[in-house]
Amino acid sequence: MTEESTDEVQSCPVCGFSWAVLARSEVSERINRAVSSLVTVIKEAGPRVTVRPNPDRWSVLEYGGHVRDVLLSIRERVILASIVDIPTGSPIFRDERIDLGFYAEDTAAQVMNELEMAAQLFAKTVTTLPAHFDTRGLIYSSRTPVQVPISSTFSNAVHECEHHLSDAKENLAMFDAANDTV
Ligand SMILES: [Zn+2]
Repeated sequence: MTEESTDEVQSCPVCGFSWAVLARSEVSERINRAVSSLVTVIKEAGPRVTVRPNPDRWSVLEYGGHVRDVLLSIRERVILASIVDIPTGSPIFRDERIDLGFYAEDTAAQVMNELEMAAQLFAKTVTTLPAHFDTRGLIYSSRTPVQVPISSTFSNAVHECEHHLSDAKENLAMFDAANDTV
């Protein structure tokens, strides 16, 4: 995935992330930065951490749990793709795992620790991935049946962290705006 493209780099309209191949050091650095900011947002949310500002959004705690699980899930796909040629990763089933209650016992204190653990584990995976394995391929998941190189799963992980950090911050801004109008 080092080929140069003259096409414009795609970027996320919500958080501004642009999909380029990132240096491994940048992957770890940006994940750590986004996750530590997310931990701060969870702390700042206080009792509002479990409140969904509207039915279309998750709570700050659910965004935290989602980022935790994304990091763990992508890590498993990276390791699988390091060993097996073009494996298919397991989808995260983002809504189903919440609807089934798998996040029901999450507490803010636990999710903050779990996020830090997941980010640390992910960073170690990025660092220790054997040289030249960045281009090994995998089918991202049965729900997203697209063949991608490991390097692009790293970019996805950075995007998930940064995007949901902006979601979590937006929740707090929505609560503040609602308070101002009372
Ligand atoms: Zn985004």
